[in-house]
Amino acid sequence: MINVTKAFLPPFEDYVKYLEGIWSRCHLTNHGPLVNELEEGLKSYLGVNHFFFINNGTFALQLAIKALELEGEIITTPFSYVATTSSIVWENAQPVFVDINPQSLTIDADRIEAAITKRTSAILATHVYGIPCEVEKIQAIAEKYNLKVIYDAAHAFAVKYKGQSILNYGDVSTLSFHATKLFHTVEGGGVVTNSAELMHRLSYMRNFGHKGQEEFWGLGVNGKNSEFHAAMGLCIFPHIGDILAQRKELSETYDSIFRTLDARITRPALPPDTEYNYAYYPVIFENEKQLLTVRDVLNATYIYPRRYFYPSLDTLPYLKKETVLPVSNSIAARVLCLPLYHGLTKDVIRRICNIIGEVLKY
Ligand SMILES: *Cc1c(COP(=O)(O)O)cnc(C)c1O
Repeated sequence: MINVTKAFLPPFEDYVKYLEGIWSRCHLTNHGPLVNELEEGLKSYLGVNHFFFINNGTFALQLAIKALELEGEIITTPFSYVATTSSIVWENAQPVFVDINPQSLTIDADRIEAAITKRTSAILATHVYGIPCEVEKIQAIAEKYNLKVIYDAAHAFAVKYKGQSILNYGDVSTLSFHATKLFHTVEGGGVVTNSAELMHRLSYMRNFGHKGQEEFWGLGVNGKNSEFHAAMGLCIFPHIGDILAQRKELSETYDSIFRTLDARITRPALPPDTEYNYAYYPVIFENEKQLLTVRDVLNATYIYPRRYFYPSLDTLPYLKKETVLPVSNSIAARVLCLPLYHGLTKDVIRRICNIIGEVLKY
């Protein structure tokens, strides 16, 4: 069975070594030495000033919304994983969708201003598939209207834009280290900010508001993560270069076979000056019928691509349907993510491409 992704597991012995340390210290959670080591390692690897390891990527979004004290309307993208929208609703704000750019599939910055009202407090955009948003345009709009900016960077681990980490744009960026992501800690997430003040708020908010044992800075919840999760991250860390290099090679294999087949598919476009991480391999078909046929034929041979991201988030059942978003709805109906993970073979890729090539002939 070939799934859209497969979690990377480090050599078992490497994890056991970390377990021995955990057993001898008996320090299982609450900012232990492994959590600190992972935070320091990721901060320098990602090239960011302030980074916290927390319990998951969805809570990272909720924490960012809370720490920035956002309320009213938050302008956001309809083309992302559901957590981007659900976090806004969960934190009692109202998502206002702006359609996406048909090439990059990120929020269309040229349409944001028209959606701003007196109630708008922020822009929450996703670097979907690891493709950088139009960060300069979004920054200029945010400054003009005094809005906060959060980037859901769950897909954007190790992505660089104009020579620096994409995580350095916006007020806060959030990461997910879920097992399906390219760097993972089984469950886990992160928040990144350049502001020392915001860092302070985020740091006490993720730890019940504690200021030492007997005092409190303010309101907080439990956003901590454990030594066991940090240990997984630390075991995978030495392999990250290999993981990125292999994903690039596999993506280029797909590209070159599709080119020789002259297949009627399109691919999202990266902005210039992007150092990409090959987090996903999405293909866009001409219509939904082709997508469904391709999916069914692949499933019949035990290959399971995924409809990332379907449906367009403006159609979620708990939202009022207010906006018309033709680009997002059209893309969501036609985009399919093909299998891409460390250890996938070029033979399987060839099989997948040939099946797709055959289906698209008719
Ligand atoms: C995976 C993902 C999340 C949620 O992360 P979890 O760690 O699973 O909570 C949020 N946003 C996007 C775009 C994601 O893909």
